[in-house]
Amino acid sequence: MNIYFDNAATTPVAPEVLAAMMPFFGNFFGNPSSLHAFGQDARRAMEAARAELARLINADPDEIVFTSGGTESDNFAVKGVAGANRDRGNHIITTKIEHHAVLEPCHVLENQGFRVTYLDVDEYGLVSPEDVIKAITPETILVSVMHANNEIGTVEPIAEIGQITRDMGIYLHTDAVQTVGHLPIDVQQMNVDLLSSSAHKLSGPKGIGFLYIRKGTKMAQFMHGGGQEKNRRASTQNVPGIVGFGKAAEIALKEMDAEIERLTGLRDRFIREVLARVPHARLNGHPQKRLPNNINLSAAYVEGEALVLNLDMQGVAASTGSACTSGSFEPSHILKAIGLPLEMSQGSIRFTLGRITKDEEVDYVIGILPGIIEKLRALSPVYKKVKDGTI
Ligand code: PLP
Repeated sequence: MNIYFDNAATTPVAPEVLAAMMPFFGNFFGNPSSLHAFGQDARRAMEAARAELARLINADPDEIVFTSGGTESDNFAVKGVAGANRDRGNHIITTKIEHHAVLEPCHVLENQGFRVTYLDVDEYGLVSPEDVIKAITPETILVSVMHANNEIGTVEPIAEIGQITRDMGIYLHTDAVQTVGHLPIDVQQMNVDLLSSSAHKLSGPKGIGFLYIRKGTKMAQFMHGGGQEKNRRASTQNVPGIVGFGKAAEIALKEMDAEIERLTGLRDRFIREVLARVPHARLNGHPQKRLPNNINLSAAYVEGEALVLNLDMQGVAASTGSACTSGSFEPSHILKAIGLPLEMSQGSIRFTLGRITKDEEVDYVIGILPGIIEKLRALSPVYKKVKDGTI
């Protein structure tokens, strides 16, 4: 067995995507800024991909700026707004469950004199729009809330938050790295001004992403150099990557509705059957408002890393939200933010399904997981006492 249930970490490049990219490593190698035919062939392909990506989120192609991935897009959004709008205010609102690609730039800005509010979330990982309203001050220039969380899969009420920020004239950024190509996105209906995406999360290649920047958004330049991307992001564009990203968007648009239905069915069956067979276990994240491909479970009296390693030995790739560093298990900032008790966060495991996932793979993992947990629990003196009823 060779089962890949870690599609939130990255996805395999779809064969159609790879085929679309190949000519741009060969005959169509031109620099899209060049005036000659080589350059113009590359430019046409790049602009076709830009249009396809714009269509996926209901934006104008001019509002799509290519970057090196999700991390750069998040950095660009946060630092770009901060840098260009300091005259209006120095306050940023974000959440405790953002990816490090948003949290770290916020920490850097704090060292530069900005004030950042990190909103709490509820037990499901949901951000409350009322909390956003309460946190806004006359100094607030940016709200950054992720569209869906990469670890626990909770989908945030971005359209509601967008209504608030729009009414107050504050920019809204959303990290949509886990949702572009997986859930319907309409930047008009959601009222977002900035949105981050990364190709390798939707069957595209690594090292290419985009930042959607709504027309009129005041942004400081992030990369200085040539005038590429209409002076918004210097450096020769990654044409093969962009072409692959465009193809991935085309496939996502075609398959999205059916994939949402298929993956939601597999996800819910997995959750239901595992929780029925494993005592002292729970689901993390919101039961309904969650990514169709995300299963995040916690089992008490086992360690997430031991689970991941045992599954790996049986050909199953998953991941954990707790990392063992020098013997002490430190739960992720996300599991801490939802207030998971320590014994539950230590035994957390994430399975993320994808385009390549088959029904029988889900059946296989449902079949072996309870046995692995039972085997690991047999090593736990605490669990023995629980079973004997002595604690
Ligand atoms: N934001 C989220 C929510 C992510 O899941 C990731 C990747 O794991 C990133 C940002 C960073 O994206 P990239 O790996 O393309 O830099």
